[in-house]
Amino acid sequence: MSSSLQSQIEENIAQIHQDIAAMQKHTDLPGPQPRLIAVSKVQPKERIIASLEAGHRVFGENKVQEASERWSALKPDYPEVELHLIGGLQTNKANKAVALFDVIQTLDRIKLAKALATEMEKQNRQLPVFIQVNTGEEDQKGGCLPSDLTELVKAAKDLGLNVIGLMCIPPAGDDPTLHFALLNKLAKRYGLERLSMGMSSDFALAATMGATDIRVGTAIFGERDYS
Ligand SMILES: *Cc1c(COP(=O)(O)O)cnc(C)c1O
Repeated sequence: MSSSLQSQIEENIAQIHQDIAAMQKHTDLPGPQPRLIAVSKVQPKERIIASLEAGHRVFGENKVQEASERWSALKPDYPEVELHLIGGLQTNKANKAVALFDVIQTLDRIKLAKALATEMEKQNRQLPVFIQVNTGEEDQKGGCLPSDLTELVKAAKDLGLNVIGLMCIPPAGDDPTLHFALLNKLAKRYGLERLSMGMSSDFALAATMGATDIRVGTAIFGERDYS
């Protein structure tokens, strides 16, 4: 194992915490540091192992199949790993997702709430769930429209799901500030405590706007190579 890779990743993680602290200094209410979810999708295995060796334990993946291939092999060696599903979920993969992940961040429709509730009961695994909100109301993007949220929160709770927060991915090119503010307002309205928002380009801003969970890939591991 390359120890220089490990120290690079340690530095990157320390830098993220520093950037957040620096940004929080400028606000009236310096909140606690958010949970850092290391987004490991597409990253080569040696980078992920280096981050595990550096002591990091909370990871995010956006595809069930890819996550399963990667983490089925790693989880036995690192049993404290907490895996968050941060990508869209098809109902026919709910069984696999419930078996593999520890937190589902992308509940966005009643049909999926039903599938998740059924699987959680079957597998006796009550996973915490975030509802993904399509704050930019983009056609191609997953997430529940803000106007449908009341109904989805109620349905999910009636099904017995443990809804702990809201998650959003602001439209590329938009100033994320308005989206973070909207998500914060919605979470307060529904009495939900956790806010998953902020990625490599805007995690420090998100942290000053109430993020409890930030999802950071590139700034920890480096660029993803899709080739
Ligand atoms: C890939 C991804 C991230 C991380 O993006 P970076 O810009 O690499 O930090 C965060 N959230 C979601 C939902 C993602 O798919």
